[in-house]
Amino acid sequence: MNASKKIHKSDFLVIGSGIAGLSFALKTAQNFKDATITIITKNEKNECNTKYAQGGISTVWDKTVDSFEQHIEDTLLAGDGICDEKIVKMVVEEAPERLQELIDWGTKFDKTTNGNYSLGREGGHSQDRILHHKDITGAEIERALIEKVEKAENITFLTYHYAIDLITEHQVKKQQTKRQEKITCYGAYVLDEKKSIVKTFSAKVTMLATGGNGQVYSTTTNPVIATGDGIAMAYRAKAEISDMEFIQFHPTALFNPGEYPAFLISEAVRGEGAILRDYYGERFMKKYDDREELASRDIVARAIDNELKKSGTPHVYLDCTHLDYKAFKKHFPNITEKCMSLGIDVRKDYIPVSPAQHYICGGVNINKKGKTSLKNLYASGEVTRSGLHGANRLASNSLLEGLVFSNNAYENLKKRFHKIKEPINVPVWNDSGVVKNMEKILITHDRNEVKTIMSNYVGIVRSNERLLRAERRLRVLYEDNKRLYDHSELSTDLCELRNLITTAYLITQFSKNRKENRGGFYSADLV
Ligand SMILES: Cc1cc2nc3c(=O)[nH]c(=O)nc-3n(C[C@H](O)[C@H](O)[C@H](O)COP(=O)(O)OP(=O)(O)OC[C@H]3O[C@@H](n4cnc5c(N)ncnc54)[C@H](O)[C@@H]3O)c2cc1C
Repeated sequence: MNASKKIHKSDFLVIGSGIAGLSFALKTAQNFKDATITIITKNEKNECNTKYAQGGISTVWDKTVDSFEQHIEDTLLAGDGICDEKIVKMVVEEAPERLQELIDWGTKFDKTTNGNYSLGREGGHSQDRILHHKDITGAEIERALIEKVEKAENITFLTYHYAIDLITEHQVKKQQTKRQEKITCYGAYVLDEKKSIVKTFSAKVTMLATGGNGQVYSTTTNPVIATGDGIAMAYRAKAEISDMEFIQFHPTALFNPGEYPAFLISEAVRGEGAILRDYYGERFMKKYDDREELASRDIVARAIDNELKKSGTPHVYLDCTHLDYKAFKKHFPNITEKCMSLGIDVRKDYIPVSPAQHYICGGVNINKKGKTSLKNLYASGEVTRSGLHGANRLASNSLLEGLVFSNNAYENLKKRFHKIKEPINVPVWNDSGVVKNMEKILITHDRNEVKTIMSNYVGIVRSNERLLRAERRLRVLYEDNKRLYDHSELSTDLCELRNLITTAYLITQFSKNRKENRGGFYSADLV
């Protein structure tokens, strides 16, 4: 792999173009008029988890029927006792202002016939408080943000640019760094996929907004870009990471073997009154929680998992046949069309569903200002552990999290940006070393193996024995990958595999260390 000798300098380097990265870039560009902002993203501009979000964004919009206290309480209840209460309060109270900003930037949310915003409800919410755009809210947000970003003269937006690693003292001063030390981030090494060269991007401030890592599991609603790159890069750079054991499995992904990623049947469908039935048509949620279908995700996903294990059947059903079809189709055109395309007519057929990995609650530690433990490295969105979600994220709180922490990072930088010095002595990527041709199929095999290990042993229900098995197998994959990485030509596939193995290993290690069942973590040995 060739390395470019040029250093690409900017004031702000934003890695990722989902809601977290774009909203940060936009805010920064509008308010630091003389600053240069570079966004790099590894695929098309809008390819990210955000684009696939269906349900919407939660906020207390109508205070005559809802209150901050209720939204806070719902979030804390879903988080199962380990949310950071101050962070929850801050996010919930800031939400209306951030949503208004998103609207001002051009995002269109659905309205009722009387002109007010139409507020949906999802599992775990005690009130209707989800702003949405049909059932394609994320795609609408991406459309609006990208349009706005493209008009900003001080933003350079680079697609198919893949961040390999963050640059710290480790490269700049060629010294080993330790996790507890004061470490500074100076930018990132980036693979320009079209030109096949590694570029060096130096920046005063780096914003990590790379999203989640659903691709470590065989069945996930996350698109292929969700390979945990940001978490793994930050871990290698010795940033603090936590809560990796809390994986959220969405209870109702469409059961359609062979379709990757799994198509989501939004929680909002249950919010509208859809009913879960077992393979034989019987309702079962009453056995698990008084809130039945509207219990939080961890509870519903575990209930379905239990039903599937007991019956040995591959899926349960979501029954929408009693709902008003016209209203259903208006709110969920995408879901209705998808079901129709598979011959499922929601007016008379039940929708086959099963749980799929959906979200990671843990990640890179940030404080309320979006700061990580590394100096000048900020992070926002699904890549982070902010304290908002605790052990289980409340539905529709994650788009909101990205908006709030990107804004807070910007607010913090307003105060300190002028003091940050331009990085010096940043070395260009070192491309020396033995490079052998490698069979690409080895990467595909290893990637599939990670998914199988994680789905078999680190899924909805874990145990000590399963975690040990996962750990042993992941170690072998780690060693194999290290050999490939050190001696093969660098490619996005290979780097992603390295990051998938790292984040799978972190989920397993954090799971081994957890000694009580909470939210998205459940071990059969701790019951
Ligand atoms: C099907 C689905 C439905 C959902 N529905 C909802 C919902 O209704 N409400 C809600 O609140 N949440 C929902 N979520 C969760 C929510 O969409 C995500 O948590 C949120 O969009 C994350 O935003 P983000 O900006 O942090 O990351 P993403 O939107 O995932 O963006 C990450 C970006 O980083 C880029 N990137 C990653 N690695 C690299 C690298 N190494 N180099 C360069 N670029 C890189 C990616 O290409 C992408 O542009 C849903 C998720 C899914 C999958």
